[in-house]
Amino acid sequence: MYIDGVNLSHLVVNEPGMSYQSHTDINPCIEVLADYPINLTEGEGGEKLSVYRIPTGLEVQPGDIVCVPFMSQKLSGVAIRRLAKPPDDLPLEKIRYVEDVIQKKLFRDTYWNLMERVSQYYYAPLIQVIRTALPPGLLGKSQRRIRLTVKGAAVSTTVNNNVWLDSPLMRTVYHPYYHLVKLYLLNEIDKNNLIKILALLSFKSSVIKVTNKDANKILYILQQQAEGDYSFRYLQNQVQKAYPALRELMRRGLIESYLETPRQIQPKLEKVVTLVGSTFDTNLTNRQREVLEILRRRGGELLHSELLQSSNTSSSVLKALANKDYIIIEEREVLRAETGPEIRGDRAKSLTADQSHALARIQAIDGYAQVLLHGVTGSGKTEVYLQAIAPLLQKGKSALVLVPEIGLTPQLTDRFRARFGNKVSVYHSALSDGERYDTWRQMLTGEPQVVIGTRSAIFAPLPNLGLIILDEEHDSSFKQDTPIPTYHARTVAQWRAEIENCPLVLGSATPSLESWVNFTKDEISTHYLSLPERINSRPLPPIEIVDMRQELQAGNRSIFSRSLQAALNELQEKQQQGILFIHRRGHSTFVSCRSCGYVLECPHCDVSLAYHHTEDGAPQLLRCHYCNYARSHPQLCPDCASPYLKFFGSGTQRVAQELSRQFPQLKYIRFDSDTTRNKGAHRTLLTQFANGEAHLLVGTQMLTKGLDLPQVTLVGVVAADGLLHLSDYRASERAFQTLTQVAGRAGRGDDPGRVIIQTYNTEHEVIESVKHHDYHTFSAAELEQRQALNYPPYGRLILLRLSSLDPIQVQNTAQIIATALGTEDGFEILGPAPASILRVANRYRWQILIKFAPDDLPNLPDWEQVRSLCPAAVSLTIDVDPLNIM
Ligand code: ADP
Ligand code: ZN
Ligand code: ZN
Repeated sequence: MYIDGVNLSHLVVNEPGMSYQSHTDINPCIEVLADYPINLTEGEGGEKLSVYRIPTGLEVQPGDIVCVPFMSQKLSGVAIRRLAKPPDDLPLEKIRYVEDVIQKKLFRDTYWNLMERVSQYYYAPLIQVIRTALPPGLLGKSQRRIRLTVKGAAVSTTVNNNVWLDSPLMRTVYHPYYHLVKLYLLNEIDKNNLIKILALLSFKSSVIKVTNKDANKILYILQQQAEGDYSFRYLQNQVQKAYPALRELMRRGLIESYLETPRQIQPKLEKVVTLVGSTFDTNLTNRQREVLEILRRRGGELLHSELLQSSNTSSSVLKALANKDYIIIEEREVLRAETGPEIRGDRAKSLTADQSHALARIQAIDGYAQVLLHGVTGSGKTEVYLQAIAPLLQKGKSALVLVPEIGLTPQLTDRFRARFGNKVSVYHSALSDGERYDTWRQMLTGEPQVVIGTRSAIFAPLPNLGLIILDEEHDSSFKQDTPIPTYHARTVAQWRAEIENCPLVLGSATPSLESWVNFTKDEISTHYLSLPERINSRPLPPIEIVDMRQELQAGNRSIFSRSLQAALNELQEKQQQGILFIHRRGHSTFVSCRSCGYVLECPHCDVSLAYHHTEDGAPQLLRCHYCNYARSHPQLCPDCASPYLKFFGSGTQRVAQELSRQFPQLKYIRFDSDTTRNKGAHRTLLTQFANGEAHLLVGTQMLTKGLDLPQVTLVGVVAADGLLHLSDYRASERAFQTLTQVAGRAGRGDDPGRVIIQTYNTEHEVIESVKHHDYHTFSAAELEQRQALNYPPYGRLILLRLSSLDPIQVQNTAQIIATALGTEDGFEILGPAPASILRVANRYRWQILIKFAPDDLPNLPDWEQVRSLCPAAVSLTIDVDPLNIM
């Protein structure tokens, strides 16, 4: 990769044993890749290396994260390469000094290789990749922000053709005396504000009208916010020609811009008291002697606060002991980490023949190779992972385990903790910044450990990696759609395993077709291992397909078929447990008028609003699942005033309500993103269910991912149809995977399970294959279609996503780019086409799909050129190997 003419891949990072102390008077210099902020005067900051001097006494090595000055700000960046002497074209006095080292030796060269590979393959700037890899807060960045001045707060703004903004300050400007008195008396303004306003009124120009439309809009947006303060980037995304408008507003003194300095995460320190020496002199007081005795009994080391408490003494007593060298009081870093509940340890299970075979094959691998562990649901894949990891830890190595979603981590993490205790740590985005930072530092120590995490944990900086595992490798949450880099954790894992020279194990009951094709090619570095049976030869649950058309014909209007109703009754009688799977969260998919057909839509996005029932008596809410806009449910149709507004579809809430109505004795727990929003909610709900506090778990997608609940005997799929009819080429694959996975939750314990799938499409090939647990027939048929149309895994795709506030400009830009691309050979252009939801959060979205054979890679377009066709108001994301083309 070339940056400013420097080929980064040839740079030596972190040469061991090199010292950077100079022997001359001139301080040595170092090149830094810093995170340049967007600058109001210069536009978007580019990616470039800058030279800094290393002050005497500060050790800076390539691979360190450093803090450097840039204009009036401080930035962090990665030290890349030292220079023996300053560049000739730069006068020495112009070169500024590195301020500090934030984190030493962050990047070993293998890690650096990985960053570069991601950057190249996903066409993302290196700094962007580094930002994704590091925990938030490590690469601090000053942020350019815009705020109203007092004068700006008082200016009247017109939005949408002369709707006058009604703010207290503004009213004041127009009727100063009357309103000032009134506001003051109403306690709505305090004396300080009163003085400010009086000062303002003395401006001759206090009644200003801003006529420029964009400037007006910016003022309006700022005035709507309590602090009158937004980031520059936010405003740029809200207003089309933000930049000249901001300039004008600044010139007129209505707004000001300022830099918010980066907030650096600090290690958390705690005072620790350590006992030194074991004999106590006679010159000690009884009190002092007592304290030392307590400290000795408690193992010679205690937290300062804890010792004070348990010896009921004051810190002056401890200080005196420290002065006499009996104890040492020091600050020590404590690592913040997510701690699970106490878990009883367990021992390795004796493996089945298939498991032993798989384990032996994995352990026979020396260095890099990929393994596909294709095991049906409940075949004991996790036990294989555990036993593959155990000997590695003994050898001082670490393991990385990636899982699709947080929903299933508590259970999986518990199984790992039961086996490996505190050697296990979790890393995912729901951790606090402090916890993420500390978990990261814990990894850097190089202690043998197991890290379990979601997508971004593929960048966990474990130095002695012995094994990488991707559980449920087919899951699409391993792919990042936005922001860049649009990486797939499985692809990055392949590179990482190769670079670190360790095995990569991909586990799934329903492998992605990419992996399936890859592993049936029979190459030396790929091993296909299968676990075709459940543990203890338990059968896979029989799957019954119910035709909902026939239910209707038979006069059953309920969302539950007669078969499912019977099963639910039986569940109640036998006090067993079950799972109901629904494709959508919320109450129902949309609200529409039965008289005129009007559908309530989000004002910012082209999608219908979903009805949310919070609790009885609470206002009924309609919510947009894309931008989170919410409004109350109207009494009458906004279009024809008819009172017949009806909910359609069947989200989790609707199903739950229907359950309460038809089966009042059945207790259920809702398990979807509405009910699991709070930290720890997954664990709480699953524990309640495991304790038998409910008969049913009612939920969405989350239920499909790896839950191992042995007491579940019934799985019901309320409507499979929503899954079958998604409009992209992966719809069938996704539907097959989801249905197979959810069915696999049944009958994992001693009691046999059963599955009921309700659908209006009983003949669909996906339904057929799911019914017979037949992965092979399904994948063969699906691959044939993919090959015919040259879709992945045969052809490759790159999706260009364009979005803008301006519907015309984004469409034109998409057309211009598509035309420019169309003149080149070697790839096929599909589109430009509007995204299936054209507008989200007021931004209009268009896309261009590029399809090509993997061998045509060298012919791909020059992305810099493509970007140059894109005006500032249109944003472009290059999504490499996209999974969601909607
Ligand atoms: P998978 O991940 O393939 O769906 P799990 O690893 O969750 O399967 O195993 C299913 C169940 O079988 C778990 O409850 C697990 O504890 C149990 N199990 C796994 N291996 C064995 C074994 N060798 N002997 C007994 N029970 C096992
Ligand atoms: Zn109507
Ligand atoms: Zn919306």
